[in-house]
Amino acid sequence: DVKQLARLRKLPAVTRDGRRVGLLANLELPREVAMAAQAGAEGIGLVRTEFLFMNREDLPSEDEQYRALREIIEGMEGRPVTIRTLDLGGDKLAVSLGDRLGESANPALGLRAIRLSLRERHLLDTQLAAILRAATHGTVRILLPMISSVGEVKQVREALVQVARRLKRRGAKVPDPLPSVGVMIEVPGAALAADALAQVSDFFAIGSNDLTMYTLAIDRGEEQVAHLYNPLHPAVLRLIQFATEAALRSGIQISICGEIAGDPRYTPLLLGLGIQDLSMASTSLPRVKQRIRNIDFVAATRCARLIMDQSDMGRIAMLLDDFNALAM
Ligand code: PEP
Ligand code: MG
Repeated sequence: DVKQLARLRKLPAVTRDGRRVGLLANLELPREVAMAAQAGAEGIGLVRTEFLFMNREDLPSEDEQYRALREIIEGMEGRPVTIRTLDLGGDKLAVSLGDRLGESANPALGLRAIRLSLRERHLLDTQLAAILRAATHGTVRILLPMISSVGEVKQVREALVQVARRLKRRGAKVPDPLPSVGVMIEVPGAALAADALAQVSDFFAIGSNDLTMYTLAIDRGEEQVAHLYNPLHPAVLRLIQFATEAALRSGIQISICGEIAGDPRYTPLLLGLGIQDLSMASTSLPRVKQRIRNIDFVAATRCARLIMDQSDMGRIAMLLDDFNALAM
């Protein structure tokens, strides 16, 4: 089995009938990049930059952020690296920002992620400067967390242009053209406004973890309601389908980087819905690739269509299990 997995690393992620799927890795810290490359990741679909801010008292400087990102980018040797701006707040806290995050009765609905970056502009500007400098060492895409409106994307784009101008004045090298800017689809409102967001975004990355939480109003870290948390809920699937169709219509790339991307059980459904890239923990890559290579894309599309007609989660899970049993 270990040998078989090693052999898999060199094989392409392609279905039996020739549909190519992009397999990317999620990572939290630079030291994980070697594992991603070793597991055969074609790029990094999600760098969770907030981990550079957690478990410490101070804020990382622009230089420190630059060095960490550069290490990841160089480790991927030209393959694309998708860097998500800070996603602090909610379940992810940083001592250095304690005061600014403030107290909130509903932190998941509060000053989180892009909202924090847009209010504390020095955080955003410093991070964008580090990203732009690091981007000269490879291929970089910028990803924005918890976007809920077109205006937020426009504000970040303006900030990016300003920071680039400032860097150039400082004599620093900046990539030309600037990196592409994409948004996380993880708030139900963003999924429903996907066609509008596609007009201002270069790509979408569906965050199914938060999308499930916000759609079903179930805290993803709350044990008492954990049994209700299910990404196969028809409401979640419809939002994924809606956002995917909007992306495909607009001709922008669509990936998914929540936990379901790394679970081979969901692979036929996600491919069948039209998702092009899957981004996951490096350790999940071989098994998902194996599943892709055993799937018929046309059959997966039919399976997805059948699933989207269902209203019962149990029935949806059964249809998926049946499909997977045939594709072992
Ligand atoms: C998600 O919400 O699905 C996601 C990938 O982001 P995170 O897990 O970092 O919140
Ligand atoms: Mg998220």
